[in-house]
Order: sequence, then C-alpha cells, then structure tokens
Amino acid sequence: MNCPYCRKIIPPGNQARCRHCSCAIAMLRTISQAADDSILLALEALREGRDRDAHEFAYEAWGLHHSPQAAAIGLIAATGLADPVEIPRWIRRRRSFKR
Ligand SMILES: [Zn+2]
Repeated sequence: MNCPYCRKIIPPGNQARCRHCSCAIAMLRTISQAADDSILLALEALREGRDRDAHEFAYEAWGLHHSPQAAAIGLIAATGLADPVEIPRWIRRRRSFKR
C-alpha cells in the first residue's frame, strides 16, 4: 500500500499514520484490507465455478480499490457469465491500467 498523500510505500503493520508525512492512514488500511478480502472471495468463487458470486465480489473489490486484480477477475467472471454489458466495462477498467 502507498500513502495517498506522499505516495511512499507503507509497510505492513498497524501504524495509524504515514511515517514519512504523518498522513492518517488507518481508514485507508481498513478499506485496502476489505478490498483484498473481496479479491480472495472472488477467486474462491471463480475456483468453485460460482461466476455470479465472483462477479459481485470483484465489483465490490473494484468499488473499494480500483486494482488490476479486481479488473482481471471481474473480466473473467463476466466472461463466464457471457454478460454482454459487463464484459466491455471490465475490459475498459483493465485498459485503464495499461500505459
Ligand atoms: Zn505519506
């Protein structure tokens, strides 16, 4: 995780503030962990063939943190569902990470 203000890497732990700029990071850490939990749940649902659940968890993760992982899992799940609306949306989300 990076500090939202100074962009320095924040090491794992439970410090409430960035040690570089003192920015409050406790809430950000909570959100980041919730996003990671949703990613794990999405992967588990994919592995078990529950594409609808995987899609919802990926969407949840994306809402918490726009990550390449959430975009990739969302695309896989939407493809599994053959969803003509969500597939292009996830493709656009994935492309937002390419330079
Ligand atoms: Zn900082």
